Amino acid sequence: MTQELFEYILSNYTNLFSEEERRMHNKLQDYHNWLSLVEVHGIDIGKDKTGLFDLTMDEINSLASIDREELDKAIAARIWNMHKDELFINTCPTCGGIARTKQARQCRKGHRW
Ligand SMILES: [Zn+2]
Repeated sequence: MTQELFEYILSNYTNLFSEEERRMHNKLQDYHNWLSLVEVHGIDIGKDKTGLFDLTMDEINSLASIDREELDKAIAARIWNMHKDELFINTCPTCGGIARTKQARQCRKGHRW
């Protein structure tokens, strides 16, 4: 799967995520936001350090070992394998590149249609 197709499926077909995939995807997003705020920027968000997020310290500790990109790639691959006949892949008529959204009328190279 190309990077373009991966990003397109992940951002345009969240409705096809399974409940478990959505839960894990959202937890990892929360975890990475938490990581950025607390660990990278050192911002104090309260004594339990989970205040702004829907996370427990136990979850934070277990999420740390999960590769977010690997999980997202597995989700996109499953959606592609199970639903490829139903998906609308919005491609540029000039270069064949995949647009960012289903509604886009411009590709990443700047062609318009
Ligand atoms: Zn194009």
